[in-house]
Amino acid sequence: MQISTTASTVAVAPERLAEILANPGFGTHFTDHMFLVEWTPDRGWHDARITPYGPLTLDPATAVLHYAQETFEGMKAYRHDDGSVWMFRPEENARRMVRSSRRLAFPELDPEDFVQAVDALVETDQRWVPDAEGEKSLYVRPFMIATETFLGVRPAQHVTFLVIASPAGAYFKGGVKPVTLWLTEEYTRAGRGGMGAAKTGGNYASSLVAQQEATAHGCDQVVFLDSQEGRYVEELGGMNLYFLYDDGRIVTPETGTILEGITRSSIMELAGKLGHPVEERRFGIDEWREGVTSGAITEIFACGTAAVVTPVGSLKWDGGDAPAPARTDLTMKLRQALVDIQYGRAEDTFGWMHRV
Ligand code: PMP
Repeated sequence: MQISTTASTVAVAPERLAEILANPGFGTHFTDHMFLVEWTPDRGWHDARITPYGPLTLDPATAVLHYAQETFEGMKAYRHDDGSVWMFRPEENARRMVRSSRRLAFPELDPEDFVQAVDALVETDQRWVPDAEGEKSLYVRPFMIATETFLGVRPAQHVTFLVIASPAGAYFKGGVKPVTLWLTEEYTRAGRGGMGAAKTGGNYASSLVAQQEATAHGCDQVVFLDSQEGRYVEELGGMNLYFLYDDGRIVTPETGTILEGITRSSIMELAGKLGHPVEERRFGIDEWREGVTSGAITEIFACGTAAVVTPVGSLKWDGGDAPAPARTDLTMKLRQALVDIQYGRAEDTFGWMHRV
């Protein structure tokens, strides 16, 4: 893909950038540039470019604003101690975007072009990648939107793929602490044949009321169950789940209606190497309740790009609760192993890191 670049003339001043990177928060500051490429049926993907970061001008009849034909990804760039900048398994995000795009009736973007676009933006704005200290990173958000001006329900005949980036602070300030969970029995996020496995905005819009319910009950995040029987654990609003048994087995909910996390698949490989085979299967909410009460489940953890790996604490639902599992040892070991690979402090034996 040929990418043209128009450099920003209003780039953030170095002193201001230093201030932002000292305390980036999450998702509020954006780098100097963005990447765009457009698609039409006759020309395919064309006009790949890096431009100054700024608002898009969209006709009010732009399809994505009405029918939500949209897919996105989330990934991070990490600065290593020698100053070099690396991404974690970007080709996996590229492949997941292809799967999401198929489900949303979008044209496919070649994974090589996806990775090239991400590399080009991160390289252009590399001064925005914070130092590793305190687990900071540059969060990268590729997304695809239906940009045809047309109020008919059909796959858009004009599509735009963009990449933006935003410096991110540590997910946990003052140390990792268990997330408390609310089990929603009213709302589900995905049905059979639905969009649960796709990373598309609608799934997150539909999670908001459940998350409000969680917050109202004093919990950090929400747990979704399957929509057909309401008995099987799926995932959190933005993280996948794992259950460790006292005999060393790990269980994680099988795929189909959940988002296949890149962290999830990495944990499966890491855990296997540490002697903990991972079973992917349906996992009943009763197994959770009984397992933590009897002590058969010794650890539960959630994983995703944002928090890496985090221990799960207590679970609440309407009319009851289940205690936090007794331990967090393997959880913290897996977390450290992943973080060390991401920040270049451990040998990358899996070949997961990609230098920008
Ligand atoms: N499930 C959902 C619903 C998510 O939004 C995310 C975050 N992308 C995950 C799981 C974890 O995926 P990953 O490890 O690729 O960040």
